[in-house]
Amino acid sequence: MNESQLALAQWLAAEYLAPLPTVLRHFLPPGANRQPLTVVEPLTTDPAPAGLSPTEMALLRYLQMQKKPVPLEDLDARTVKSLAEKNLVQRRATLSKPRVGPRIERTVELLISPDEFEDALFRVGQNSKQADILRFLWQTDDPLPRESVALAAAGAASDSPLGGLEKRGWIERLPAQTLVLPAPNFSGTENLSAAEKTLLATLQSAGQPVDEASLPPDSKSALKSLREQQAVVLLKEPPRVALRLPPADMPAAIIALRGAEKHARVLELLAQEEGSVWLGWIFAQTDATQKTLSDLAAIGAVALDEARRWRDPLAGKAFTLAQPPILTTEQRDVLAKIVPALDHFGKPFLIHGVTGAGKTEIYLQAIARVLRRGKGVIFLVPEIMLATQIIERVRARFPDRVAVWHSALSPGERFDTWERVRDGKLSIVVGARSALFAPIQQLGLIIVDEEHEPAYKQDRAPTFHAREAAIELARLNDAPVILGSATPDVVSFRKAERGEYRLLSLPNRILAHAEHLAVQAALLKKKRANITVPRGKSVVTLPLPPVEVVDLREELKAGNRSIFSRALSTAIAETLNRDEQIILFLNRRGTATFVMCRDCGYVANCPRCDSTLTFHQPSGQLVCHHCGYRGESPSVCPECGSERIRYFGLGTERVEAALKRQFPQARPIRLDRDTTRKPGSHYTFLQHFIAGRANVMIGTQMVAKGLDLPLVTLVGVISADTGLYLPDFRAAERTFQVLMQVAGRAGRSPLGGKVIVQTYTPDQPAIIAAAAHDYHTFYRDELAFRYEQGYPPFKRLARLTFAGYGREQSQAEAETLANELRLWVDREGFPAVEIIGPAPTYVQRVGNRFRWQILVRAPNPAEILRPVPLPLNWRVDIDPVSLL
Ligand code: ADP
Ligand code: ZN
Ligand code: ZN
Repeated sequence: MNESQLALAQWLAAEYLAPLPTVLRHFLPPGANRQPLTVVEPLTTDPAPAGLSPTEMALLRYLQMQKKPVPLEDLDARTVKSLAEKNLVQRRATLSKPRVGPRIERTVELLISPDEFEDALFRVGQNSKQADILRFLWQTDDPLPRESVALAAAGAASDSPLGGLEKRGWIERLPAQTLVLPAPNFSGTENLSAAEKTLLATLQSAGQPVDEASLPPDSKSALKSLREQQAVVLLKEPPRVALRLPPADMPAAIIALRGAEKHARVLELLAQEEGSVWLGWIFAQTDATQKTLSDLAAIGAVALDEARRWRDPLAGKAFTLAQPPILTTEQRDVLAKIVPALDHFGKPFLIHGVTGAGKTEIYLQAIARVLRRGKGVIFLVPEIMLATQIIERVRARFPDRVAVWHSALSPGERFDTWERVRDGKLSIVVGARSALFAPIQQLGLIIVDEEHEPAYKQDRAPTFHAREAAIELARLNDAPVILGSATPDVVSFRKAERGEYRLLSLPNRILAHAEHLAVQAALLKKKRANITVPRGKSVVTLPLPPVEVVDLREELKAGNRSIFSRALSTAIAETLNRDEQIILFLNRRGTATFVMCRDCGYVANCPRCDSTLTFHQPSGQLVCHHCGYRGESPSVCPECGSERIRYFGLGTERVEAALKRQFPQARPIRLDRDTTRKPGSHYTFLQHFIAGRANVMIGTQMVAKGLDLPLVTLVGVISADTGLYLPDFRAAERTFQVLMQVAGRAGRSPLGGKVIVQTYTPDQPAIIAAAAHDYHTFYRDELAFRYEQGYPPFKRLARLTFAGYGREQSQAEAETLANELRLWVDREGFPAVEIIGPAPTYVQRVGNRFRWQILVRAPNPAEILRPVPLPLNWRVDIDPVSLL
């Protein structure tokens, strides 16, 4: 660790009341928790130094002959020690370097047309004699001789596949028969006896050969004499096999017999796609395995390929400005203020600008200047998985200089990145809050994009806020800090107002570079003819999309019980008809599908916690999101026995189901914590949407962030107020932020766009302000509320939480600490300090533990709490971002 890292660690420990060793762990290189390896290498090339014992001589010789240092554990430690004391060898600790591979993602592309699927599928999967037999029988409608069937199918006259097929009712085995038919040119009818005449007449009237066995037993002698007179012919039929399966069911049967259903599903999925598809997507959507795909590749039905993982997700659709564009006047003004401040630490800059206002472009130009000074940059983003577009832009501008720092890297990749950053080979580290601990040389700038995001707060010790830590690290390195946001944290904006930050504004949204726009418009014109692209300017700005607020109470009054208001339904239908894309947003906070009895009001709760259980569609199970409990969903009410027990609330699954029911042409994709749990799947899903394979994206917070999707012309907010009533002083701020963000997703191309916000409380200030894209009004209202209630930025908070067993004991424990704190504050005579609580937390039981919280409100709560020894099972969070 360098000096500033050590100083930062000490600051974090002190500021957030965390043990120093816990903090230090964040700075260690990946793999540092492995046992270090001690190696031994010779310090002399002299083959025979004086005064060595034969053993020492032998060992030294051995070391001299090796090309690499030898692990100590392979040598005799005592001899090594005495050689080391004579300064002839040295022992050195190393970390063995993990293997590193580039991050490559595989893709698959369909090579055959759907009418060739059947044929392809008959050739994959495992060999099946039964399937071969079906295909053989399928050639003709007539029963075929058993012998030839068995031979053709199996190459051996085994009967067991036939038995299997017969058991399924797909074929019938016909025994050997003798068929009788009248001879065509027989002319001696007058010589026949009466019985013979009758028999011949029967055979003639049958019109087809008759089975000998079906003739009446008393006609035996008549038949014999007819035969002698050559009046009839006997045909011997061997045992035969007849197909009983309807022809339409044949392909499915053959595919099932060959175990090729997975292959079929893959082909069907690919048929709906255009171009190549990420393997991850195939695995997410079907039960296919690697083998399924290699089978299909082996017969030439698909091609497997590899592509770089972080490639531009908008490749071919939009374009990345690799060259810096000419800045707009506004951008130039902003940059002009930043550039002279780039050499030293100073008051942080706060760039306030809506999404698309050109903040990132400012960051990039500032980075370029810092790199030219030979210094490095840390670029913080709230969540790396949502930052692919930003990463792509930074990479395009500064090829080969960018390290992406995140937890989904493999140990090898992480080690490699760490090493290359430390060696100064990569001078820009883009990452989530842990990127602050990257061993960057000569730090020259820290950028904190979307500075208002709660993801910047770490919830384990040290519970630091990355924005605050960034400012401290910058101070320690004498480097500047740039913060940016469309909806600055009320606390940050207040600091800017009071002159602690330097506020810079970018009030207009940039549609795009004119050149880019021309390309886009040319593509889009195929969809809609009436697009006009303003000419003659290099940059075109555009207004924020219009927001329509729909009062859901009116919908209920009008008898509309659908999830979608009439306005939203109409807009969805129109957008789908124009073949454009839609984002439907659900606020994750406070939305859940829970189970409630309509008769007695019973709600299914977790038996281990107090939290409400959430219903999950695919498994039909009830899940507790706090402790992970899973249980079956009841079909009758456990309280009153009523069957009117139903799902309430709204999850993305229900929106998807309703959408499919109401709009058959919708091809939805869900993006939420459940569907994107696998690493990388978020990216795959997004890719899918960007490629136009889905036309509606339904999701929670995730869909709101980090995307520039030109084809999205409608954003629907299913219910805006779900997060508003949570017992957290930031509830309104979070709601406002997410509404502003999601609204910014619509209309980012010449196609334009609009936003529809559904709410039960259309007169909530946060909703009104978001609908008007009006940060300032929101800020004023919110600030007044914070002042009145004594919340940040006017007071700071610390939150102490306790989790313990036993309802009474936990409460008693919490009360004891609260009382001790009150006594302590009184005794020390701290001014303006309040101890609030104890109170049960929002979700009081997690697992079998009961949780309580105490809030400390003070100008500097860490200072008050630092000397207080916290009892076991208490946790402390300075400046908490959530009180839930
Ligand atoms: P933000 O970071 O505020 O969301 P961006 O920097 O991403 O804004 O800018 C939005 C879009 O406008 C991007 O496509 C970007 O490439 C483009 N853009 C930004 N500045 C300029 C400029 N000066 N000239 C042309 N295009 C620009
Ligand atoms: Zn009930
Ligand atoms: Zn639970």
